[in-house]
Amino acid sequence: MEEDTRDRPIPSGTAASTPAAQNGCSRQLTDDEVDRYSRQMIVPGMGKEGQLRLINSRVLIIGAGGLGCPAAQYIAGAGIGTVGIVDGDVVETSNLHRQVGHATSRIGMKKVESLITHLRGLNPLPSYIPYPTHLTPQNAAEIISQYDLIMDCTDNPATRYLISDMCVLLGKPLVSAASIQKSGQLIVLNCPPTPQGLVDGNYAPCYRCCFRKPPPPSSMVSCGEAGIMGPVVGMMGVAQAGEAIKILASALHIPPRPLADDDATPERNLRQPTLLIYTYDLESAVGPYSFRALRMGGRRRNCFACGEGSTLTLEGVQAGSPNYEQFCSMPTSRASLPQEERITAAAYHAAKERGELSEHILLDTREKEHFSFGSIEGAVNVPFGKVLMKAAAIMRDGGSGRDILPVEAGDRDAPIFVVCRTGLDSQETVEKLKELGLDDGGKRKIVDIAGGMRAWKQDVDPSFPFI
Ligand SMILES: [Zn+2]
Repeated sequence: MEEDTRDRPIPSGTAASTPAAQNGCSRQLTDDEVDRYSRQMIVPGMGKEGQLRLINSRVLIIGAGGLGCPAAQYIAGAGIGTVGIVDGDVVETSNLHRQVGHATSRIGMKKVESLITHLRGLNPLPSYIPYPTHLTPQNAAEIISQYDLIMDCTDNPATRYLISDMCVLLGKPLVSAASIQKSGQLIVLNCPPTPQGLVDGNYAPCYRCCFRKPPPPSSMVSCGEAGIMGPVVGMMGVAQAGEAIKILASALHIPPRPLADDDATPERNLRQPTLLIYTYDLESAVGPYSFRALRMGGRRRNCFACGEGSTLTLEGVQAGSPNYEQFCSMPTSRASLPQEERITAAAYHAAKERGELSEHILLDTREKEHFSFGSIEGAVNVPFGKVLMKAAAIMRDGGSGRDILPVEAGDRDAPIFVVCRTGLDSQETVEKLKELGLDDGGKRKIVDIAGGMRAWKQDVDPSFPFI
């Protein structure tokens, strides 16, 4: 990985040791820096000291998307000395409504390169370090260990738990945000960092202390499935930068000291951090603007990562334990159906054209907003979330599996074909329908259309409006 070495600050060890940012005053500000940062330096609480701490700080932004772009702009603008950015994706047109650090002219470029191009235009003084890769259990320690503060700007739960665990093991403060559809949340974790296993005292929690279990897979939808509003995710990214700047300029991430019970400093607040939740009502023309703040607890004694007797180690993570994808039941770990229960989009189309499928039910499990943009002729829509909810209710309260199907299809015994957006939800739907007995002991065919509507567009109908 190439590194820009201009004006490179002294690398720090773990934040729990002595970060370069702690003293901050190792040199004077240059005229250019005074000019550039004067408006924030005159804000009470920042001053020259705070600015020098920022210049001596190293921040890692994981994710160069909807959160990472606005966060990176303000981190770079404020003069953080070294900014590392991790992302393995390339810029796509559908990113641009919210990922404002990219540009139409840079579609197809690696996101880290595109964002750094933008940041250099904004502020050429910091060193920018690109990591054009996804964060993995294998590369996480090497990357994260080089920074003073970590910003989680990712969009999947498995990576969130990985980042938090690494921050616990390496003693890094973590500013974590998330956003989907019309809501966002933000929390500062592991700040100031405390050695793993230290529980007698009021210490800051990690992500696992606050969120012991990931959300159920059925509730985990990507931006591609659920959609996302630009200003919502943008606001969370900006707030993330605000928290990071505050922590670094005030040296709030410096190792813990004993706190008196009546201590009311910002450090006390970090040890029982606030979860900021923002929801945005698209149906309401003006407001209500909804910000909520939930006070979270401190470090949990029995936390898997940071608690007493934790067995989490760097070596273990690197060797695959814990298994983050399994823990979060990520779609990639979902079992594929056997061959006889699948058909390609092209083979389904050909069979239909030949009239071999005159009697069948085509169940489309995409969200209704996706369905409304276009569907295969004759398809009926039951969104995946509804399939899971109805299946759970039938299993709990009894009833017929047929209730999952729309009325117009419910009474027929014809084969069922299931299609979704990219071919994962449809496989799970096939399994659910079989569990509920809709396959009539194997007499009725229930088949997944492999690759979903994406494959349909690619192999059957290039004019299909796939979103
Ligand atoms: Zn914890």
